[in-house]
Amino acid sequence: MPETQKKLLLHICCAPCACGCLDKIKEREVTLYFSNSNLSSQEEFDKRLENVSLFAEKFGFPLIVDPYDHAAWLAAVSAVPGYEDAPERGPRCAACFKYNLERTAEKAEELDMNFATTLTVSPHKNSKLIFSIGGVSPRFEAIDFKKNDGFLKSLRLSKELNLYRQNFCGCEFSLRDRS
Ligand code: SF4
Repeated sequence: MPETQKKLLLHICCAPCACGCLDKIKEREVTLYFSNSNLSSQEEFDKRLENVSLFAEKFGFPLIVDPYDHAAWLAAVSAVPGYEDAPERGPRCAACFKYNLERTAEKAEELDMNFATTLTVSPHKNSKLIFSIGGVSPRFEAIDFKKNDGFLKSLRLSKELNLYRQNFCGCEFSLRDRS
């Protein structure tokens, strides 16, 4: 791989999903970018960040943190009609991906790097939709981390490392609707 293509800014939603990406990013010069203003509270943000920091330290990845600004995220997703009651995988989620990926694209531009996202690890997330949203930026790499058992690997390694594995996607609506 040419040196110029080795650098990758990886938007990281949580430590368990990062575990599912490890095999595919080992050969790259990866910087993790924790940008998750979608999270329901500062407490949840801090908890996920603490676990992401453990992951970053263990595997030697630099980590950049985008400060939590839930009001700005809410302002963005509230433009979607019926956003509060939209189901997971619905239009609110598309606006949510757009918000986080646009912030990651800006950071990637600033750092002169390509970027990808751990969001594609989850079987609950539509990778094609994520690719169409991220692909607006020429710096986006459409890596489907759920391929080759990415999700299974995320479960195994996060368990082994005793990482916090949340039982809801992230925002207050997914917290309310969790089953
Ligand atoms: S359910 Fe998840 S992807 Fe959808 S809006 Fe909430 S945090 Fe974002």
